[in-house]
Amino acid sequence: MQAASWPSIRRDVELSILSSMFFALCATLIMSAYDAGLTLLHTTACKHELWYAGFSFIGVLFLQDLYFYWVHRAFHHPLLFKWLHWGHHQSGVPTPWTSFAFDLPEAIVQGLFFVGIVFLIPLHVVTFIAVLITMTVWSVLTHLGFEPFTSSSLCRWFGRWFIGPTHHLIHHRKYRLHFGLYFTLWDRLLNTQDPDYEDEFAFPSTGK
Ligand SMILES: [Zn+2]
Ligand SMILES: [Zn+2]
Repeated sequence: MQAASWPSIRRDVELSILSSMFFALCATLIMSAYDAGLTLLHTTACKHELWYAGFSFIGVLFLQDLYFYWVHRAFHHPLLFKWLHWGHHQSGVPTPWTSFAFDLPEAIVQGLFFVGIVFLIPLHVVTFIAVLITMTVWSVLTHLGFEPFTSSSLCRWFGRWFIGPTHHLIHHRKYRLHFGLYFTLWDRLLNTQDPDYEDEFAFPSTGK
């Protein structure tokens, strides 16, 4: 496994701080709008809330995945890459510090999803926070730079349908492939998944 250099980790940390400042601004906007009663966020629980909490949680992850796929694919257009997405790829070898290492324009595009979603979809505050935690943990996981999971049947199934460290590592090596965030669905459907992913990268020990 190739190790990331300290200067590249430092650059990732600097970009992450910049991104975090913008995300903090987004959080301030959302909380101010919530206080003013302008969002569809709520804190009341009723007997229908549990199934809706699960449904809306998965629904928002699905929408974010779709949004991320297309903006990420657009970021890799030669005319946009240098201005919008180079910061995320400058380290070459991803580490958890790369997870939120975004140029400011990219941070704005990513943050606006959450600013928009609170005005469009009724969400319990706990569901909204659960989505943010899931995104954060998932981003760190997919930027580990190595595959910590075994090639058991369960891991193979997850690797087929969910994006993990190996799937996203391939994106950092091959810019024209693997644009998704959580699910492999869009990369599979739109032919941006490495045809050798399942056989050669994800599950080498299976020999399939
Ligand atoms: Zn990219
Ligand atoms: Zn990445």
